Amino acid sequence: MVRELNHWIDGKSVPRGDQDALTVSGPFDRSPIARVALGGRDHVDLAVDAARRAARAWADRAPVERGRLLAAVARALRERAQEFVDVEVEETGKLVAEMRGGLQVAADYFEYYGGVVRALFGETINLGAGDHAFTSREPYGVVAMITPWNGPLTQAARGLAAALAAGNTVVIKPSEFTSGTTMMLAQLCEEAGVPAGVVNVVLGAGPEVGGPLVEHPSVRLVAFTGSVVTGRRVAESAARRLIPTILELGGKSANVVFADADLDRVVDSALTICTGAGQQCAALSRLLVQEEVHDALLERVAAQMRARVPGERLAPMTTEAQFEKVIEYFDVAAQDGARVVTGGHAAGGALAAGRYVEPTVYADVTPEMRIFQEEVFGPVLAVSRFATEGEAIELANDSEYGLVAGVWTGDSARALRVASRLEAGQVIVNGGRTGIETPFGGYKASGLGREKGFESLLHYTQLKTTVVSTR
Ligand code: NAD
Repeated sequence: MVRELNHWIDGKSVPRGDQDALTVSGPFDRSPIARVALGGRDHVDLAVDAARRAARAWADRAPVERGRLLAAVARALRERAQEFVDVEVEETGKLVAEMRGGLQVAADYFEYYGGVVRALFGETINLGAGDHAFTSREPYGVVAMITPWNGPLTQAARGLAAALAAGNTVVIKPSEFTSGTTMMLAQLCEEAGVPAGVVNVVLGAGPEVGGPLVEHPSVRLVAFTGSVVTGRRVAESAARRLIPTILELGGKSANVVFADADLDRVVDSALTICTGAGQQCAALSRLLVQEEVHDALLERVAAQMRARVPGERLAPMTTEAQFEKVIEYFDVAAQDGARVVTGGHAAGGALAAGRYVEPTVYADVTPEMRIFQEEVFGPVLAVSRFATEGEAIELANDSEYGLVAGVWTGDSARALRVASRLEAGQVIVNGGRTGIETPFGGYKASGLGREKGFESLLHYTQLKTTVVSTR
C-alpha cells in the first residue's frame, strides 16, 4: 500500500489538492511506498501562523501540566510501537530490532523532558536591600525544526520533547524521503492531549519548505539536524534574522585504540559502524589503532564485518542518492590507494533490487585520503595506524568534524589525558554508555549547541532577568 502523506497544520490534515507530490521508493526493493505532498511557502505561512496562535496558551501552562501531556505521548508511543516500527522500517530500511530500540528511545525523550522540565528554575541575585533580582527561563515561541532521513522518529522526538517541555510550539519539516513517522508522531501528540497548533508538520523539499521556514519572521529559533552544507545555509539565513540555531551536523568520528585495550570490546565497538548500515551522524567511522595490535585487530574486525550479511544483519541505504554516494566512495577510496580488506561493492544477486552495499573495511588509510576526511554515511570503516599517544591525538583531530570520539586503553590516566585533548563534543572511554541524559553535539563543523540532557532544555529557552525595587 502506498501511503498518502499530507501536511498537518493546526490539528488538521491539509489535503494537497492538485499540488505536486513526491513518490518515494523503498530501500528494500525500490517499489513505491509513499506519496508525499510537496509544500511551499503558503503551507509554511499557515503552519507558522497556527504555531504562533497556539504559543501563548501553551507557554502559560504550568510545566507540570505540559510534562503530564508529554508522559501521555510517551505511553501512547509505546502502546503503538509496532505501527511506528513498521512504517519507519519500510521508509528507512533499518533492521527491526534497531528500530524497536529507536522507538523506546523516542518514548524516553518524552518521559525525560516531561519530567525534568519541572526542575527548570531561574536564580535570584542578591543586589542588597532595596532591590530584588531574579532570572527566569522563557520559551522562544515558534521553533522551526528540520530533520534528516536517517533517524526520523528519534530525531523528531529528541527536539520536539525538549522544545515542547520548555513551552515552545513547533513547525517541523521532516525529510521528504521519510516523513511517515513524524506525521504519525504529530497526530499522536494531539491524541494524547497536546492542543492543536502546538505541533505542525509541513512536508516537502528543503529549499521549498525548509528555506521559507527558517526565513519566516515569526520563527524565533531553528533546530536543524542534517548535513554540514545545508546546516551552513540554514545558519546563514538565521544569522540574517539574528535568531539562534541549534545545529546537529555530520561527523567522521575517531575510535582510538591503544595496545593495552580490551580488544574483545573494541571489536564490538568497531562493528557499530553497521548500526543503521552506518547511516548515523555519530558513527565511529575511523578506527585508529596502535601498531602493536593493528594487524590482529584488523583481522578480527574484518572477519566480523564479513559476517554482517546484507539483507540479514545489515540494512540497506535509505535513499537512492545515499546508495550512489557510497558506491562513489568505493571508487574514490580505490583511487586514493586505500587497501580494501573486505567489501567495496554494492551487494549483488537478489539484493541488487534493493539499495544494499557490502560491509566494507579499508586499511592503510592516511589523512590525505578522502575516505579519512569525508563522511561516507555507510557501513564503511577506515582503519589507520599510529605509534605514539601524540600521534593518535593528532590523527583523531585531523578532521573538520568533531562529533564523537572513542578511546580504548587499560591506562586510566592516559584515557583522561587523551579524552581531554580530543576535539569532540562527546568522548566515550572504554565503551561507556551514553543516554538521553548525556548532552550531545558537535565541536568544529559538527554543529552548534547541544541536544539531549538537561542542556537541551536550556537551549530551547531564553533567559530573562527581572529587577524589582522593594524600596
Ligand atoms: P540534508 O542536510 O540534506 O537534509 C536535512 C534536512 O534539511 C532535510 O529535511 C532537507 O529537506 C532539509 N533541507 C535541505 N535543503 C535545505 C535548505 N536549503 N533549507 C532548509 N532545509 C533544507 O541531510 P540528510 O542527507 O537528510 O541527512 C544526512 C546528514 O545528517 C548527515 O551529514 C548526518 O551526519 C547528519 N545527521 C546529524 C545528526 C546529529 O545529531 N548530529 C543526526 C542525524 C544526521
